[in-house]
Amino acid sequence: MTILKILKYPDKRLNIIAKPIKNINNKIKNLIFNMLNTMYAYNGIGLSATQINKHLRIFVMDISKTYNQPIIIVNPKYNFVSNKYKKFKEGCLSIPYYFEYIYRSININLNAIDINGNNIIINAYGLISQCIQHEIDHLNGKLLIDHLSQQKKKKIYKIKD
Ligand SMILES: [Zn+2]
Repeated sequence: MTILKILKYPDKRLNIIAKPIKNINNKIKNLIFNMLNTMYAYNGIGLSATQINKHLRIFVMDISKTYNQPIIIVNPKYNFVSNKYKKFKEGCLSIPYYFEYIYRSININLNAIDINGNNIIINAYGLISQCIQHEIDHLNGKLLIDHLSQQKKKKIYKIKD
């Protein structure tokens, strides 16, 4: 079991756009396993490959109350993003001890592949929708604070300095 190092804001590598996975070989499966271990070790509900400095389109989540129902998403692609929004309080393992209210679409629909390479369609609402949007943002080099005004962003820099 390996706990991977998580990149922290303002590390520029968090802004790299991740590349799609061509095939899920054992190396990728091992990476996913370690991502899950890392997410659980830090009590996160989601972790993208970007955050552990692997720039591949993979993320893992677990939003269950029992915290033993991992969800693995590879090569996600939006089919639909609702233009109805809800404010959610959000944190990120790459910005420790920071929480902010972010507007997220209440409903999304996406194509992806699972760990066995099967095509899956996900229709998500509420917390899971919020979490997926947060993780896909990571794969696109975007952080939750990129949803904030410049003034609020500057304040975070001050906290980090
Ligand atoms: Zn995050």
